[in-house]
Amino acid sequence: MILKLILIVGIIAAIYFVFFKKKPRIFKDTKEELDGSDMVECATCAVYSQLDDSILSNGKYYCSKECLEKVS
Ligand SMILES: [Zn+2]
Repeated sequence: MILKLILIVGIIAAIYFVFFKKKPRIFKDTKEELDGSDMVECATCAVYSQLDDSILSNGKYYCSKECLEKVS
């Protein structure tokens, strides 16, 4: 009885989690909007870093000030 209940709750949670996780991705594909947790490629060293940690300059992303200074 309890095992059945746990199984049902687990299935519902799994469905909910999959649905919840897929939604933002569809939104991103259609609108191509980046949020802070997205990975962007550094224009200098090609290292991927989080958008929050990268520097945007002239439409390009840089992983650090050092990479930005190498360009300019
Ligand atoms: Zn870099």
